[in-house]
Amino acid sequence: MSEAEPFTYDGGIVASGETRNVRYTVSETYLGDAVRMPVTIVNGEQSGPTVFLTAAAHGDELNGIEVVREVAHEWDHEGLAGTLVCLPVLNVPAFLAQERYLPIYDRDLNRSFPGDPDSTSAKRMAHEIFRNFLAPCDVGLDFHTSTRGRTNMLHVRADMGDPEVARVANAFASNVIISSDGPSGSLRRELSDSGVPTITIEMGEAHRFQRPLIDSAIESVRSVLTEFGLRDSDTVRWPGWRTVIDDSDEKTWIRADSGGLVDMHYDRGDLVYEGDVICTIANPFKTENTLMRAPFTGLLVGILENPLVYPGNPLCHLVRLDDRTQRAIEWNRRADDDDW
Ligand SMILES: [Zn+2]
Repeated sequence: MSEAEPFTYDGGIVASGETRNVRYTVSETYLGDAVRMPVTIVNGEQSGPTVFLTAAAHGDELNGIEVVREVAHEWDHEGLAGTLVCLPVLNVPAFLAQERYLPIYDRDLNRSFPGDPDSTSAKRMAHEIFRNFLAPCDVGLDFHTSTRGRTNMLHVRADMGDPEVARVANAFASNVIISSDGPSGSLRRELSDSGVPTITIEMGEAHRFQRPLIDSAIESVRSVLTEFGLRDSDTVRWPGWRTVIDDSDEKTWIRADSGGLVDMHYDRGDLVYEGDVICTIANPFKTENTLMRAPFTGLLVGILENPLVYPGNPLCHLVRLDDRTQRAIEWNRRADDDDW
C-alpha cells in the first residue's frame, strides 16, 4: 500500500504517519484575541480516505465531544490507512457560553455552512472550518444531541436517497435512521451536496456525558472506518434491527394540550402501542390530569427531560414502525429480558 498524502490546511501540513494537535484561529473576540478551535489531525502511515469527525456545532451538545476525543487520543492508530480530521468543538464561542447558538446575535453555526468570508461572523467562521478541514475530506460524521430539556435515542439523520451517504449511514449501524436531505446551511447537507457524504448522529441530551451512548457511538465509528478501509482489524456492524424513516412515514412531535408538570411514563427508545398513556400533565394541586396517549403504535425517538410545559410544547417524538420492524424490536426486547 502506498504512503499517505500529507494533509494541508492554512498555515500547516501534517505528514504521513504524523499526529498533530493544533489550535486553529477561526475568529477574534471583542478584545481582538484569537478564537481558537481545537483540531487533531491523525495522518496514517498508509494512504486511504480522509474522514472528519465533528462535534459541538451546537455549543452545549457535549456527548459527541467525548466520542471525537476518544477516537483521536485513546485509539491505537497503528496501521491506519487514511486520515482522521477530529474537530471536537466546532462552535467555540457557544461552547464557552454553554449555549446552543453563537452568542453573537444568536446565530446558528449549523445553518451557516458552507460559509462566506465577506458575510456575518457565523458565516466567516463556518467558511474557515469548511474550506480548511471539511471540504478536503471523503466522508463526514457530525455528532449532535437533542436540544436542551429533551433527550434522543441514538439515531442517524442522513439522505438515504444518496447512495454514498446511505453507505456511511448503514455502516454507522444505528437502529433508527431518519432520512432527509437536511436543512439548507447545515453541515451535513452542504458537505453532502459538495460531494463529501456526511451524516448527523443524534445522541442523548445536552450538557451531559452519557457513557453508554458514547461507547455505542465509538463502536459505530470503528464500523464506518472499517467499511471505508481505514482500519482492517474490526468488522462492519449490524445493529440487530434497523428502520429507515422517510418523509412518507408517519412521525410526529406530540405536543402538550395543557400547561403543567409532566410525569413521563416511558424512556427514549421505548416502543409504545396505540392508546398507551405516554405521559400525564398535572396542575400544581394534582387535581386535573391530562393524559397524553399514543395516536399510533411506534417508537419514542425523543422525549422531554425538563418536566415543565406550556400548551404546545413538545413532549415526545413518535415514529410509526412497519410490522416487521415492530416484531423485530419486540423479539429483541424479549431476548434482552431473558438475559436478566
Ligand atoms: Zn445539534
